[in-house]
Amino acid sequence: MRQVIVIGGGIVGLSVARELALRGDAVTVLEKEGGWARHQTGHNSGVLHAGLYYRPGSLKARMSVAGNASMARYAEENGVPFEICGKLVVATDAEEVPRLHALASRAEANGVPAKLITAAEAREYEPEVSCVAALRVESTGIVDFPAVCASLVRDLDGHDLRLHSPALAIRTRGEEVEVATPQGVVRGDALINCAGLHSDRVARLAGLRPAATIVPFRGEYYELRSDRRNLVRGLIYPVPDPALPFLGVHLTRMIDGSVHAGPNAVLALRREGYRWRDLSPADLVDVARFPGTWKLARRFARTGVEEVLRSLSRKRFAASLARLVPAVGEADLVRAEAGVRAQAMLPDGSLVDDFLIESAPRQIHVLNAPSPAATGALEIAKHVAGLVRD
Ligand SMILES: Cc1cc2nc3c(=O)[nH]c(=O)nc-3n(C[C@H](O)[C@H](O)[C@H](O)COP(=O)(O)OP(=O)(O)OC[C@H]3O[C@@H](n4cnc5c(N)ncnc54)[C@H](O)[C@@H]3O)c2cc1C
Repeated sequence: MRQVIVIGGGIVGLSVARELALRGDAVTVLEKEGGWARHQTGHNSGVLHAGLYYRPGSLKARMSVAGNASMARYAEENGVPFEICGKLVVATDAEEVPRLHALASRAEANGVPAKLITAAEAREYEPEVSCVAALRVESTGIVDFPAVCASLVRDLDGHDLRLHSPALAIRTRGEEVEVATPQGVVRGDALINCAGLHSDRVARLAGLRPAATIVPFRGEYYELRSDRRNLVRGLIYPVPDPALPFLGVHLTRMIDGSVHAGPNAVLALRREGYRWRDLSPADLVDVARFPGTWKLARRFARTGVEEVLRSLSRKRFAASLARLVPAVGEADLVRAEAGVRAQAMLPDGSLVDDFLIESAPRQIHVLNAPSPAATGALEIAKHVAGLVRD
């Protein structure tokens, strides 16, 4: 029986491990933290994306559309809380309407059912919303991703799952891959790197020279005070600016009934920097040395400054939300936990748009798996497992 080592116990690593186990491999999962899903997977919006935003034919588009269905099915079959509640993308002024139409065309190209509706129709879904037009997407849902991971761990019963086990060094010896951990060396026939915010470093440990480096973008959230949750029934998103890599702050009803507002996007001062005061000189030096950082900073200077100001001011954050739902005020917002996105950047300063998966003999490296990779995790897993077999 083939022995495969998976580095990373987020939703991508655990999904890959389960898929390999289903196909008959013996799996070892190495996770550096004391629990599963402690980073991106446990700090996100909990949205089962429909797949409307992504370039037709891209891995993101295909895996989001297929993953929306497969993740919902998995949740249903395994008693994981989820709901297909649908969402609204709202144009708040006439200028945004052409972009809303472009989004509707993209949804159609990706095979995502979505319909353009009037402001009055939008208010039937969300009575407090303010818009001039909207796109209604029925297949978007919400799910408890950490509970998905807990279920994946149960599926892996009998395999070798190790917490507190950072991969410290990797080498290939003949037909074998060896991974050094504080508890000793783990040996396998193949290695899969699903290390999220550290995926580029793990790839380098394995001898690869990936062109892209990971830039950590913190996404901060507020929560609506419990007595103001009634302002939002489901998911309300702005029309995204195609020049920017993220979707814009939105209002999201979570599966536990709370309503989250966010996330914004500010450069984190540490790969796992959940607060401004979390700072790592080594991570900063890495980011500063990478030529792409300065090109990116120049390109998005104005947006970057605005994002920092909004991060520091609840009033500004509330003002962004009030564009979508005017009744939301500063006093309605309570700080919630932030998340940090692992976004791969190239030396020319461009952000890698699609999922990025590279292979080397006996190794597969998932080098860019930002949103919607939680939605698409079971599909990414099938793709990666197929590559190991080749
Ligand atoms: C703010 C935010 C909002 C988002 N919203 C959504 C959403 O609504 N819907 C959606 O589909 N996606 C969303 N995403 C994206 C989604 O969360 C990620 O795409 C997904 O969780 C990536 O999973 P992962 O397993 O690759 O990474 P992670 O969950 O980060 O897991 C990687 C794991 O690798 C471990 N690791 C790292 N280095 C090592 C090492 N050397 N040895 C051992 N272990 C190691 C880490 O500890 C970590 O547990 C969001 C992300 C963020 C940050």
